[in-house]
Amino acid sequence: MNNDTLLKGGKMLEPKTAAAIVRAVEQGFDQQIAFTQDLIRFPSTRGQEHAVQEFVYDALKQRGYAMTQFPMDRAAIERHEGGGKFSVDHSDAPIVIGTYSPLETRGKSLILQSHTDVVPTGPRDMWRFDPFDPQIDGDWLYGRGGADMKAGHAAMIFAMDALKSAGLAPAARVEIQSVVEEESTGNGALMTYLNGHTADAVLIPEPEEEMLVRANVGTLWFEIELRGVPVHVREMGEGASAIDAAYRVIAALREIEERWNAERHKHPYFNDLEHPINLNIGKIEGGDWGSSVPAWCRFQCRIAIYPGTSAADAAAEIENHLSQFVKTDRYLSDNPPKVTFNGFFAEGYVQEPGSAAEEVLARAHHAATGQPLKSFTTPGYLDCRVYRLYNNIPSLCYGPISENIHGFDERVSLSSVRRITSAMALFIAEWCGTVEL
Ligand SMILES: [Zn+2]
Repeated sequence: MNNDTLLKGGKMLEPKTAAAIVRAVEQGFDQQIAFTQDLIRFPSTRGQEHAVQEFVYDALKQRGYAMTQFPMDRAAIERHEGGGKFSVDHSDAPIVIGTYSPLETRGKSLILQSHTDVVPTGPRDMWRFDPFDPQIDGDWLYGRGGADMKAGHAAMIFAMDALKSAGLAPAARVEIQSVVEEESTGNGALMTYLNGHTADAVLIPEPEEEMLVRANVGTLWFEIELRGVPVHVREMGEGASAIDAAYRVIAALREIEERWNAERHKHPYFNDLEHPINLNIGKIEGGDWGSSVPAWCRFQCRIAIYPGTSAADAAAEIENHLSQFVKTDRYLSDNPPKVTFNGFFAEGYVQEPGSAAEEVLARAHHAATGQPLKSFTTPGYLDCRVYRLYNNIPSLCYGPISENIHGFDERVSLSSVRRITSAMALFIAEWCGTVEL
């Protein structure tokens, strides 16, 4: 055979090739699910991702990828407009990247990226199964982080494995990136970009219901701290409760939320969503015991912002609104709340239709599922923003059907994982092109 029949870079897949790839995904699927369960067994909440990152490093190294790992560069992140704000809780787990390089490049390069950090479980007695002891019931695989996004993580690795089992190798560079801090700052994904990693497209298999994310919101995290005047409750009128003051500040923040939601018609992909901007008061603490007027209160907030609004502008708007509000409050005007941005400082993104990468994904999705590829807008943060906004490359967020992510009994559909793994493998083969091994 000459090179022209061996190399299929950038061409549509032949049905025979596509069928061989899908067959290879099927054959590797039991192993893929076992690997997904291995990932879920690591309780990799924020700051606890070292062991799972090491496990991923070994898994990729065994497969022959050229391995690299690096820490967060705090100074570089802080210099960047999209850098999440550091706090004592920031993870110091490394970022792990495995790179496949072809002997000769004929197709387009690709970054496959997933995060290994997972959100806290909440009370364990609210779970049907232990959150870090993954169980299968029918079509569902249960476990914290299984859907978000260890199923996708395993899928990107096994999609590449399937090509190899089918006797094919990508005809362009493919990076498999395993990041942390997706759930709190987005700094892991940002760090890969700041360290010079790029490609012709990026695909992140977050649990997106087998759809492509067309647009999503940005996210800000901030803490508000209030000081009160502690007195015995019998003289309460002479004191000032930091907890009561927190109620009033939260009400003022709800006004911003309402105003931003009312502006949704100005944002093309957000018009149809009823409430795209959600403010969450995610954690609150304060006071010392039942019979003293509380001297302190601290609470953690998360709010969304539209694509096109910079994090800095949104932060300034929040601060301005609060400083106007406190002027109207007798106590707070002399004791203003302290606002600290302490996590996500991220703009949202829009992946406009018409990219070549989306066309290839649509074909791959159709071949794997029999359905046309749909797109949607999601009101949650996604790491795809990094490569879309700063690197300006097609950034595809697409992954399996799931339920209860961030809730109790998080679960991912196994039949859906199978379909999206096939779609990803077909996508890689067409986007990167293939050579026969
Ligand atoms: Zn996620």
